[in-house]
Amino acid sequence: MDNAKYYNLDQFDKASKIDAHIHINTADPAFLEQASLDNFILLSINTDVPGYPTLQEQQNIIINHRKRYPAGLRHVTTFETETRNQDQWHERAIKHLDESFSQGAVGVKVWKNIGMDIRDEQGDFIKIDNPLFEPIFEYLQQSNITVCGHIGEPKNCWLPLEEMTVAGDKLYFQEHPEFHMYLHPHFPAYNQLILSRDRLLERFPDLKFVGAHLGSMEWSVHEVAKRLDKYDNLAVDLAARICHLQYQSVSDWQSVYDFFIRYQDRIIYGTDLEFDGSQKPDDFREEAHNTWIADWKYFVSDGLLSTPGENYEFNGLRLPKEVIDKIYFRNALKWYPGLVF
Ligand SMILES: [Zn+2]
Repeated sequence: MDNAKYYNLDQFDKASKIDAHIHINTADPAFLEQASLDNFILLSINTDVPGYPTLQEQQNIIINHRKRYPAGLRHVTTFETETRNQDQWHERAIKHLDESFSQGAVGVKVWKNIGMDIRDEQGDFIKIDNPLFEPIFEYLQQSNITVCGHIGEPKNCWLPLEEMTVAGDKLYFQEHPEFHMYLHPHFPAYNQLILSRDRLLERFPDLKFVGAHLGSMEWSVHEVAKRLDKYDNLAVDLAARICHLQYQSVSDWQSVYDFFIRYQDRIIYGTDLEFDGSQKPDDFREEAHNTWIADWKYFVSDGLLSTPGENYEFNGLRLPKEVIDKIYFRNALKWYPGLVF
């Protein structure tokens, strides 16, 4: 065993790490306390989700945590689309983004409501490549500000529950029939959403774009690879989709391993852990720690592993240390240029 080339399981808390896709929606410091114990810096992704605190509140939560944990937390801001038909929406959106950047935001989130929820006056869905957003992307491209884009959903979302590949998706779409596209055939198809995102990448070739959740191409590392080959401005985060890589590792471990080696500069670790204070702080801390440890095991060890709720087993990837350092730390700094430590 070459210790210089690989991490051990118990080096977890020695390695510098960034969880570049989480959501902190509470003043409770439990998430930051656990992150600090486990040697993680957090990137909280402010998102225009129904049920989340308002965008202003989400941002204020982060700013307040940063007073106590100045080196432990950054955030990605976003803009609202609700008043898009009112005068000077673009100007207001850009002004709001600028204010966020001056308060430490390092990127801009766009969410799946673009493409799957908001509609124009004819009732057609407004997708991410709609001219409505061009002045904003133009501005971000010029300013070298990264977009974190959650466009579309896992492909499972368009399948009946019993055909979905991973337990987490079955549970999520069972609980959220409103987002389960198999039940909503009049909504845009999976491919339409992926294509709308691809057209945006083409139109703004210098816009840094982090495709959240493996760019919604979680079902095939080959599909992600095709886009990474085609669009130099694209990277992907792993948030809430590592289970899909494990699923592919069952039948095709080699392709998953090769994917990490080949695209080691463009894959960013993230979990999508969310803490809004509704869970007991200690329970949340345990959940966060266990999630981080389970992922670490998958990436650094080569044993046979399993994951709760799934009946399959897969081998760990045992990625070289250099690759681990990139996906867990250096790539986030590179792809979110405002993220400096
Ligand atoms: Zn998220």
